[in-house]
Amino acid sequence: MTDHPVLHGIVLSSMPMGEYDRRLSILTKERGRISAFARGAQRPKSSLVAATQPFVTGAFTVVEGRNSYTMIRAEVNNYFTELRGDLDKTCYGLYFCELAEFATEEYLDESETLQLLYAALRALAKGEPEPRLARAVYEMKIAYTRGEGPQVSECVRCRDTKGPFVFHVPSGGCMCRRCAGELFDEEGRKAYELRTQAVASGYYNLDDSTWYALRVIASTQPSKLFSFSVSEEVLTQLRAVSAAWYEEYVDHSFRSLEMLLAVEGENV
Ligand SMILES: [Zn+2]
Repeated sequence: MTDHPVLHGIVLSSMPMGEYDRRLSILTKERGRISAFARGAQRPKSSLVAATQPFVTGAFTVVEGRNSYTMIRAEVNNYFTELRGDLDKTCYGLYFCELAEFATEEYLDESETLQLLYAALRALAKGEPEPRLARAVYEMKIAYTRGEGPQVSECVRCRDTKGPFVFHVPSGGCMCRRCAGELFDEEGRKAYELRTQAVASGYYNLDDSTWYALRVIASTQPSKLFSFSVSEEVLTQLRAVSAAWYEEYVDHSFRSLEMLLAVEGENV
């Protein structure tokens, strides 16, 4: 028997194909994100039924075709059953997977995103930190793994590191108040809007704790990222910054987000 590749990763999505098969998207350590077919995975007696669901983490033996892979065996090390049994957590988990699918590519080294997703699913399973914070942290960190995260340690214009700063989404991150004042003048706005905490076109006045959280997110490795908690105020600011960042730079509508927003709406 030929040696088939064994790929380690997480199933991101699973679509029925015809009556019996499934088409999977898997984020793998070895090959980045791949598409794989699982023949017969919809047949109740197939050994692949349980392994071809989103969140499943394990070692997948595949046969390589010209354009895709066929999964023939799976050794699961985490089914994340805690997520599947809880509608809210399922919604978060599916969104995390869809975001990872969007943010990764085939054949590239996506091991950092893989670690991040695994850490995020574990955080969801544990319920710590709370899912809304896990979501904000995950969203911001995935932007960094793509090299598209905000600059949070120095002014994007003059590179001043002392601050105080405002967060300016269109400029790409933190901006000292002097530069922000100049920019406001250039844009024909009044600098006093900054001092009065007014939020105008992508400007955010962030608490020190929110800056600290953003710097932690930017600099901490994925596996250690989901171990802090923040106040409700900081969480609100992180969520606002993340939403604005995604609107400006990602501009993609995620299928799973609609359901998640309904879930979050109920929990507020
Ligand atoms: Zn500056």
